[in-house]
Amino acid sequence: MLPLPLGSTYDYRLPPDVAAEPGSFVEVPLGGRTALGVVWDPPENPDPIPESRLREVIAAKPAPPMSASLRRFVDWVAAYTLTPPGAVLRMAMSSPQALDEPAASGGWRAVLPRPEGVRLTAERLRALEALGEGVLTGGEIARRAEVLPGVVRGMANAGLLAPALLPRAPAFPRPDPAFGPPALGEEQAQAAAFLRDAVARRAFGVTLLQGVTGSGKTEVYLDAIAETLRQGRQALVLLPEIALSTQWLARFERRFGAPPALWHSELGSRTRRVTWRAVADGEAPVLVGARSALFLPFPDLGLVVVDEEHETAFKQEDGVIYHARDMAVVRARLAGAATVLVSATPSLESVTNAQAGRYARVLLPQRHGGAALPQVGAIDLRATPPERGRFLSGPLTAAIHETLARGEQAMLFLNRRGYAPLTLCRACGHRMQCPNCTAWLVEHRAQKRLACHHCGHVEPVRPECAECGAEHSLVPIGPGVERIQEEVSDLFPEARRLVMASDTIPGPAAAAEAARQIEQREVDLIIGTQIVAKGWHFPHLTLVGVVDADLGLAGGDLRAGERTMQLLHQVAGRAGRAESPGRVLLQTFSPEHPVMAALLRDDLEGFLEAEAEQRRPGHWPPFGRLAALIVSSEEARAAERVARDLSLAAPAGEAVQVLGPAPAPLALLRGRHRHRLLLKAERGMPVQAILRDWLGKVEVPSHVRVQVDVDPVSFL
Ligand code: ADP
Ligand code: ZN
Repeated sequence: MLPLPLGSTYDYRLPPDVAAEPGSFVEVPLGGRTALGVVWDPPENPDPIPESRLREVIAAKPAPPMSASLRRFVDWVAAYTLTPPGAVLRMAMSSPQALDEPAASGGWRAVLPRPEGVRLTAERLRALEALGEGVLTGGEIARRAEVLPGVVRGMANAGLLAPALLPRAPAFPRPDPAFGPPALGEEQAQAAAFLRDAVARRAFGVTLLQGVTGSGKTEVYLDAIAETLRQGRQALVLLPEIALSTQWLARFERRFGAPPALWHSELGSRTRRVTWRAVADGEAPVLVGARSALFLPFPDLGLVVVDEEHETAFKQEDGVIYHARDMAVVRARLAGAATVLVSATPSLESVTNAQAGRYARVLLPQRHGGAALPQVGAIDLRATPPERGRFLSGPLTAAIHETLARGEQAMLFLNRRGYAPLTLCRACGHRMQCPNCTAWLVEHRAQKRLACHHCGHVEPVRPECAECGAEHSLVPIGPGVERIQEEVSDLFPEARRLVMASDTIPGPAAAAEAARQIEQREVDLIIGTQIVAKGWHFPHLTLVGVVDADLGLAGGDLRAGERTMQLLHQVAGRAGRAESPGRVLLQTFSPEHPVMAALLRDDLEGFLEAEAEQRRPGHWPPFGRLAALIVSSEEARAAERVARDLSLAAPAGEAVQVLGPAPAPLALLRGRHRHRLLLKAERGMPVQAILRDWLGKVEVPSHVRVQVDVDPVSFL
């Protein structure tokens, strides 16, 4: 199989001097060039190609073969997502350089017996003593023997030293399971024992680890990782936002005395190569990564952890469209590994699986160390609206005052980057819009520009309206975090403020610095987007204010309520994690909404039950299945035509239903016109077969793309 979006495997002859087996990485001729591929398994119904037409494998790569379980995973993901297997294989071959033998670097060894007639000075003797029977670089010999580098060179010229390869140090130190285990609380200890048992069974199984924010879920699953290390197997941890995980990494190192291997899209090519190879060689006992880490070549995976399993960031939305949480379970099943899904606010999918007995469920109902859960209150914006042109109400402002006066930290949450989500012309009513997308341009005042958050289009802020030319007529509508920061700087000029959004915290280093400033109380007030909701532990933070709790509910797709509840609960969970109790205030226009009511009563369980009752009768997920088709083209008419043809060929029947076609909410994205169709099927239906059959009936011209999104998360 070649890592290219091709329909099937290719046949080659294996010459007698090339040793290869299923899984071996091989170099083969392809057209006029050579390509790298993997020897796949013999097909069930072989259709032999005449000997005379076969070309020969050129060479096998000096790398461990791809395991059968990873090959089955590639096949499985391809079939499930309706993607060519080669396109999935490409994700499993993301560092072709790693297939070559890792280069050993050169050093020196002593020549024995010593050549005769060579003068041995005191310096030379010291150098030989430092070297002993080992191999060292010239610089290292000089350093240890305290001689000048010229002495080492002279010894080499005299034949006292000969070139030799340095022993290769493992790329990653071994985390030590006994290094720094914490004293677990009673509930933690029970949960940890359960997970350790699951790992020790050395077999597939899924556990949902559900604990309130601050209950110490991380410490509990680190214990399961310790057991995996004792079993001599490998552990994989998926985090939704690896760039923001500095606190997590520090905690890992405190627990195991060594850092884990990391995997995400921002690694340089050298680190990728070293890491990929270390995983393949079994030299990376614990790897922490983003969703693409699922495709690394673990030879003996014993544990897969998905932290914050409810996060939508686990859904990959382009290329091969897959949900990393769901695929993690498949990867673990094929590898015979224990699986732990972790969250304070698990998805309805996982809770339903637990209730049906497919997953085990372990609960941590209390915060670690006796910390209390925060008190959640609502501020009804109808009763106490902010002043005109402002966004913080009186009660919220007062609460911030009190918190700062006590010397504690406060956080304001608004899930919107920039200054204002919409710029409007007061003279003609024109709204500043992206030329490539159905989206408003968001003002970023600090950078003096308007930006599209979908395609990256930017333009300078102009003094006059692009439509009618009126001057000084453009007004910002609504707030983003920058605008809240402006309001706060008027209200609390003394407070030291920090804005946390993906544009102000662009990477791991910035995230680490932000965390340090907050931990060391160099910051009083944090204003942030959803990145502040992620797993942070800030002991002095006691007040969380949600500027617009209703924001995520607008335009509501299937999971808008569930997602808003999860996000707000996670943000709320940042408050009061140490000695001082925490308080959360939600600014809302509808405190009676089920999401707000559940947050106020702290009744996630009840919320999910009600949610389930709404989805069950109509066979909505997880009680039925969805697959979306997204038709797009730069030519509006062509996209529309294919969408209509698909609709005419749509499958029908008792247990399936097709909704659409309809212009997508993002009807124009990056200059492409988009239409959507949605297949809804009852749970037991063979969705992939239905889709394959459906797509086979419609001719799609090359300038039109039809993307298949099985189990869609986004409906834009
Ligand atoms: P969660 O992930 O459930 O929100 P964390 O794992 O972040 O909670 O734990 C909250 C805080 O309590 C962290 O600072 C963590 O290091 C600390 N903690 C949790 N369990 C223990 C323990 N058994 N001993 C010492 N500290 C702990
Ligand atoms: Zn755009």
